[in-house]
Amino acid sequence: MLSADLPESFDPDVIAREHLAVAADVPVSDFPRLADLLTSSKGVVRVTLKASMSADRRPATTIGLVAALEQSCQRCLQPVTVIIDHEHTVEWVADEAELARLDALDDESADPDREFMPMPVPPRVQTMVLVEDELILSLPIVPRHEVCALPEAAPDQAEDHPFAALAQLKSAKGLN
Ligand SMILES: [Zn+2]
Repeated sequence: MLSADLPESFDPDVIAREHLAVAADVPVSDFPRLADLLTSSKGVVRVTLKASMSADRRPATTIGLVAALEQSCQRCLQPVTVIIDHEHTVEWVADEAELARLDALDDESADPDREFMPMPVPPRVQTMVLVEDELILSLPIVPRHEVCALPEAAPDQAEDHPFAALAQLKSAKGLN
């Protein structure tokens, strides 16, 4: 059973021993760095936090994020709803030296949904900072509609280029 509040901050080791599992609906407007990347700060993000010990006996914190966010489509520049359904596990390692050692061992089979982070000193993680970092990383690199409403704004050469649609709008208006 999940309780309804996120801790303001936590010690990864302590919550792992307690098997903490919490969930909360956090207003998008509570994440100012995220809101800067959106065209609307309405709505909520469903945040879950689950703590456990990894197979290697390291404290692990799994952050789950579910949200419908509104960004600007990079092809037609109209609002596009981006669905976030993301889960990511942080395994806390002793320090930067251990992190460097583990990263050196890392190979292509490494799980992309898991990452190592050095335990902060003192061992206190600000929940909202961690969650907001994770939210920003979960956004698409180039947000866009699967099918844009403006067919003339989607020629092949505009593909994958965030500024192509803008350039095209400018040239359509005779600004180039
Ligand atoms: Zn579009």
